[in-house]
Amino acid sequence: MTANHWPEVYKKLGVKPIINAQSWVTALGGSIMRPEVLQAMDDAAGVFIDIKKLNLAAGEVVARACGAERGLVTGGCSAAQVLMVAACMTGTSELNAEQLPDTTGMKNEILLYRGHRNRYDKAFITSGGRLVEFGGHDHVTPNDLENAIGDNTACVAFVIAPFLPAGIGLAETIKIAHNHGVPVIVDAAAEVPPRANLTKFHEMGADLVAFSGGKGIGGPQSTGLLAGKAELMEAVVMNSLNLDSSVAAIGRPMKVSKENIIGLVTALQIFTDSDEATEWQGWQSKADFIAKQLTGINGVRVEIEDDPSERQGPQPVLYFDDSYSGPSISEIKQRLENGDPGIYVGVMGSKEEINIVMVNVQDGEEIVIADRLNQILRP
Ligand SMILES: *Cc1c(COP(=O)(O)O)cnc(C)c1O
Repeated sequence: MTANHWPEVYKKLGVKPIINAQSWVTALGGSIMRPEVLQAMDDAAGVFIDIKKLNLAAGEVVARACGAERGLVTGGCSAAQVLMVAACMTGTSELNAEQLPDTTGMKNEILLYRGHRNRYDKAFITSGGRLVEFGGHDHVTPNDLENAIGDNTACVAFVIAPFLPAGIGLAETIKIAHNHGVPVIVDAAAEVPPRANLTKFHEMGADLVAFSGGKGIGGPQSTGLLAGKAELMEAVVMNSLNLDSSVAAIGRPMKVSKENIIGLVTALQIFTDSDEATEWQGWQSKADFIAKQLTGINGVRVEIEDDPSERQGPQPVLYFDDSYSGPSISEIKQRLENGDPGIYVGVMGSKEEINIVMVNVQDGEEIVIADRLNQILRP
C-alpha cells in the first residue's frame, strides 16, 4: 500500500500517510507489518493466555533465531537496554532487583566509548547505573578500556549504528572485558538485516545483544528482542515483568502485550525464512530508478551507496558542489515534506547530503520521489 491511500482510521484524526524514505526511524512509524503478522496479532488478541508461559515460549524462538542460550521479547530495543544494564547490576538477587533504581551496594558503572554516545544511551542509565566514558571521540585504544575498568564496573556497553565509529571493535572489547570478568552488552538496534547479524555478535562472545523488533525485522514498532547468556538472561527476566515473585521490577513500565509478543515472533520467523538477496534487489532497483531520473542536474552528483557501516541498504545519495545554485538542503527537505504526499528523506551523513533510503519505500513510491525531486531541483 502506498501513501496515496488514506486509511479511514487516520483520516478521522486528520493525520495523513507519508512516504518514508528515511529508513526504519521511530518518528515515521518504524516499518510496515506484513499481512501474516497482522493476522497473527489478530488471532492472539481474542483469547487469554498465561503471559509467563507465552514469554518463555517466545523467548525460546528468539534464542534460536539468535543462536543464544536464552531470549526474551522486550518493549523495543530501548527496553532491552534498560534490562541488560539492570541484569548486570543485580545479578540474580531479588533483593537487588527490588532495590533498583537505587544501586547502593551494587556495581553500577556502565563503560561506554565516547564515540558511541548517542541519543538512545539514556536507556543505559534508566535502571539507576552511571555512564562512564572512555577514550576520545575519534581516538580510543585498548588501554583506555583497560584503565576504565574498575571495582564498580557492571558492564561494558557497545553500540553498533550507522555513522558511529567502531572504536577498538567488538572483538577486542569482549576480550578485554572478559579478562576482567566484566560482561559486554550490545545495542545493535538497527543492524538487521543482514540476517547474519542476529547470531554474529553472540558468536563473537557478547553476553547480551539487543535488536529492535520494529525496524528491519518488520515486527510491531514497540517490540525488541534480547538474547544472551543464560545466567544474565535469568537476571533480565527477573528485572522485566517478574511474574514469579512479589519483586517490583524496574521493567514493569516496559511490558509487552500478548499481541505484540506474537507479532514479533511471527515477523522474526518470516524475516529469517525470507531471502536477503531478493530483498536487497528490490531496494537496488528502486535506488537505480531514482538515480537515473536525477542525472544531469547542474551541481548535483548522485551516487548509490551501500556501505553497511553507514547505510541501510543501497540508496541514492545527493551531493551538491559549488556550481549548484538551487534551494538549500533544508529547503529541499521542507518542500518534500510539505508536498502531498509528504516525502521524508535523510539528511544526516558525514557530509552535506540528501539520502533517499529505500527500505521503507513502497512499490511505486520511487516514481513519486523522483518526480518531486525533479520539480524542486530543475528550475
Ligand atoms: C532505534 C534505536 C534504538 C531504540 O530502539 P527501539 O526499538 O525503538 O526502542 C536504540 N539504539 C539505536 C542505535 C537505535 O537505532
